[in-house]
Amino acid sequence: MMRIGKPLAHPSPNHGPRRGVSAPDCVILHYTDMLCPEAALARLCDPAAEVSAHHLIAEDGRIWSLVPETERAWHAGLSCWGGERDMNSRSVGIELANPGHGNGHAPFPAPQMRALEELLREILARWSIPPERVLAHSDIAPHRKQDPGPRFDWRALALHGLSVWPEAAEPRGAGEILADPGEILPFAALFGYDFAGCGRESGGDLGRDGRSPSDLGAHGTQARISEILRAVRLRFRPQSPCEALDSPADARDLAILEELARRWPCAS
Ligand SMILES: [Zn+2]
Repeated sequence: MMRIGKPLAHPSPNHGPRRGVSAPDCVILHYTDMLCPEAALARLCDPAAEVSAHHLIAEDGRIWSLVPETERAWHAGLSCWGGERDMNSRSVGIELANPGHGNGHAPFPAPQMRALEELLREILARWSIPPERVLAHSDIAPHRKQDPGPRFDWRALALHGLSVWPEAAEPRGAGEILADPGEILPFAALFGYDFAGCGRESGGDLGRDGRSPSDLGAHGTQARISEILRAVRLRFRPQSPCEALDSPADARDLAILEELARRWPCAS
């Protein structure tokens, strides 16, 4: 298949060497939360902003490559997956130009998705990354991030072998409310979600994204369950209206997490 467009080199100074790993073993998807890709490009290259990503994809499919994939870009911030905290060192970060939640939940247009699929196919092959290691920013930082959000089509990506999609996520009536919402936790943790809260602590410079948690240490189990549920629903139950993100854990949430944990347990 012909490439839609050759990535344009647009170097960002915001990067450093990977720490403790020589190669990325996952990909993190983001949205820019900005009204135009050029503004995002400027911010991701601004030394004062202290943020970056390896690649930025515009709505029309243009790709800018900002940081070499061998280097550590600064996009994940305080985060954790499978017990690993320095997600910047382990990942390739891709920003998708999109106005974000605050600007009307715009869809991700077809040219942008095609460019992403093509880029992901190359990245997964280049670094031998399995599809279950393509993650949302909201997966690795559920306490403070919601990107790429409910309009992002994870199922389409999975159909191309570029992510995973549990069959339990298909709509089949309302689930029964769980008597004990804590039932979801062992499965969520096995798939990779951070229940221990290690992604909340700023253990050294994890690469900044301008925000830090304000509620360190005072977070209860219930709130942690709600955060993980939101992340799971944003990604695997996108048909849920936004208000449903905070409704009590139900049987479908549990079925989704059981299947994720069984089929794609996090190795690390
Ligand atoms: Zn993000």
